[in-house]
Amino acid sequence: MVDLRKTSYIAAALAAAMFFSGCRSSAEYVEGEMFAMDTYMTWEVLEEKQKSTSEGLKQVISETEQLLSVTREDSDLYQLNTSAGHSVTVDAALAELLSRCLDFAEQTDGALNPALYPLVKAWGFTTGEHRVPVEEERKALLAYTDWREIQISENTVTLPESMELDFGAVGKGYLTDQCVDYLTKNQVKSALLRLGGNIYALGSKTDGSDWRVGIELPFSDGELAGVLSVQNRAVITSGNYQRYFEQDGHLYHHIIDGKTGAPAESGLNSVTVIAHDGLTGDALSTAYFVMGLEASAEDWRNREDIEVIWITENGKICYTEGLADCFTAAEGLETELIRR
Ligand code: AMP
Ligand code: MG
Repeated sequence: MVDLRKTSYIAAALAAAMFFSGCRSSAEYVEGEMFAMDTYMTWEVLEEKQKSTSEGLKQVISETEQLLSVTREDSDLYQLNTSAGHSVTVDAALAELLSRCLDFAEQTDGALNPALYPLVKAWGFTTGEHRVPVEEERKALLAYTDWREIQISENTVTLPESMELDFGAVGKGYLTDQCVDYLTKNQVKSALLRLGGNIYALGSKTDGSDWRVGIELPFSDGELAGVLSVQNRAVITSGNYQRYFEQDGHLYHHIIDGKTGAPAESGLNSVTVIAHDGLTGDALSTAYFVMGLEASAEDWRNREDIEVIWITENGKICYTEGLADCFTAAEGLETELIRR
């Protein structure tokens, strides 16, 4: 089992190293950190008016953690997951997030499916007590994962009996958007947020140049597959190397294919989506991991506003043509430009 905290920490350390080597031109960047949502989060925020943005960010993170918690008995999500088929009125933010998730589920034909929680539990990813459920068990659990049966009317949600939701695939992207909202409302013009594997680059560095974000090479102990130059973008990665266990020589990871109930075997080790907002990046990086290169490249061709980097199991780096000028792959790696 690779501890997500460790990989998140490595990603954070990488990004921090690039930050300090590239742009430490002003003493006005304040740094902050927090462990929440089972991951290590850090940030640098340019504070022009000496506001305590770090405290504000911590509050946003705590509130979002509470909103999305599947285990706290006082959370709306817990109430929903134990509702036994009855309607539950939930926080407006949760209803809105669920509704946006269902749009992505529809768009990706269920590659993103917030109703796979029973499978995630069966594989032991919620507790760390990993096991390989046999096909019969997986099939029985899959019977309760049809997201099309979820009903939402304003803030009232009705799940079919035995269905349970989790927002693990979109939670940190959603949190990214909440943090960016908070920062822009507080007139922050430059910041780098690292919320686990989710990065957001707000504005430019103080000298006007882009933020440089490292893309991790899966299973490499922190080596980079390349570096991306960005401003005002979320850079969000889903990968089989972020959380997995090994049994009988087989690697079982945490991104589930809703068609089989088993970890997705799509020929990829990671997918990074570069998007205007965190939720889109987080939802699509998970979905694209499940869909594999070919199907997700086709989906990308039908979208205007995202770019993608896929790293295949064979170590090839494929990236969309919109990144031609802002992504530099590490030397010696095989690359392919994916065209519209
Ligand atoms: P991410 O790291 O954003 O790709 O999200 C992975 C997490 O989302 C897992 O740890 C599960 O909690 C949950 N999950 C796993 N597979 C799926 C899926 N196909 N759709 C939605 N959520 C998933
Ligand atoms: Mg995701």
